[in-house]
Amino acid sequence: MVVTTDDIETVAVIGAGEMGRGIGAVAALAGYDVVINDIDKDQLAEAHDQIEWSYGKSVESDAITQTAADDALNRVSFTTEFETAVGNADFITEAAVEQQSVKEDIFADLDEAAPSTAILATNTSGLNITRLAEVTDRPGQVLGTHWFNPPMLMDLVEVVMTEHTPDRVVDTAEALVEDFGKTPIRCQKDVPSFIVNRLMRPYGEEPAWMVYRGEHSMEAIDSAMKFSEGFPMGPFELADYTGAIQLRVEGAEDHLEDERPLSYETDVCPLLYQLYDKGRYGRKTDAGYYDYSDRDEPEISVDTGQAFDPLLVWAPIVNEAAKMVQHDVASVEDVDTGAKLGGNWPQGPFEKADEVGADAILSRLTDVASRHESTNKVAETLPCELLVQKAKHNELFYE
Ligand code: NAD
Repeated sequence: MVVTTDDIETVAVIGAGEMGRGIGAVAALAGYDVVINDIDKDQLAEAHDQIEWSYGKSVESDAITQTAADDALNRVSFTTEFETAVGNADFITEAAVEQQSVKEDIFADLDEAAPSTAILATNTSGLNITRLAEVTDRPGQVLGTHWFNPPMLMDLVEVVMTEHTPDRVVDTAEALVEDFGKTPIRCQKDVPSFIVNRLMRPYGEEPAWMVYRGEHSMEAIDSAMKFSEGFPMGPFELADYTGAIQLRVEGAEDHLEDERPLSYETDVCPLLYQLYDKGRYGRKTDAGYYDYSDRDEPEISVDTGQAFDPLLVWAPIVNEAAKMVQHDVASVEDVDTGAKLGGNWPQGPFEKADEVGADAILSRLTDVASRHESTNKVAETLPCELLVQKAKHNELFYE
């Protein structure tokens, strides 16, 4: 027996950090009893204060009443006692540190301590969920619910299935996410980076290669993507904001031994190593692609990007999106929803492809792939069959 949506009353969250406290805050506001657990009691105290603060902000902006805020805060309890936290929980979300071994230990413990009917979810950003499922005796009740930061404000949750997840369990998790007031998208296979971060990867990577090869300037690409295409930030500005240079270099080997479908096996652009070696990680070190020592924002003018063709950036993203559809990882609609709600993109890759035509995307992609001939990136940028077929038959992704 596994819980259905109507049975879920108590939600437990493991890990009271940035994400765990936000997820707990959302669940309590939606009317659920919430228990937050952490090994560090200072984190629990901070989590309490931050939830109270974020509810206060929602009251100030008239999004909720003071009574709703008080009631929600009263529904949240905080404990370092793992068994107390999960012993009565119907749905448990793990949001501890991003380490496979730590998460595997937690899932083994959850399997022992949580009711046998409970669903166990992880907020991992891309670790192997199948392996987490397989350390338990209930692999069909383990899945990913990948929230975006900050959970109180971001609308999207990726619900990630493994080969063990039956539809009724993923349906329950999606209904719960909707009841939390969020929009779920379904990642039907446990692939590295799931849906949104798979799209983000070429958005950051291909422009770096173009600059490394001396074909375009950072300013031109950032300007075109921001001002002509309407992205909230160009790829270089965004990378400096998120610290992507450090994350990508330090995570370069992360998925090399990964046996999951659509695993990555690619070179990191040498430009990232050059910056990393100089300690230029982004805003937090006062320099990344841009220098922030005497300014808060990079200076990017609207004019600089006029001559740059943004389809060169879109093409590998559309290809990645099409690969996900071709391999039954996600639907066309869910990929686009993920891009718009998770990345705040102005349109999804399939909406873009349908607007300009798959043949235009394919011709830019062929150009991009030809420039990767000396690197193992070439395999990743080769057009997938679905895109080739759409271009050949002049078909839209949205029928
Ligand atoms: P964080 O470092 O802010 O918090 C992690 C918390 O887990 C800490 O409070 C730590 O004390 C606690 N913890 C460690 N081991 C534990 C254990 N065995 N039992 C209970 N608590 C334990 O991390 P975060 O940013 O909240 O990220 C949490 C998870 O969410 C990670 O898997 C991360 O990849 C994922 N995630 C993060 C973001 C983000 O933007 N921060 C976005 C999406 C997903």
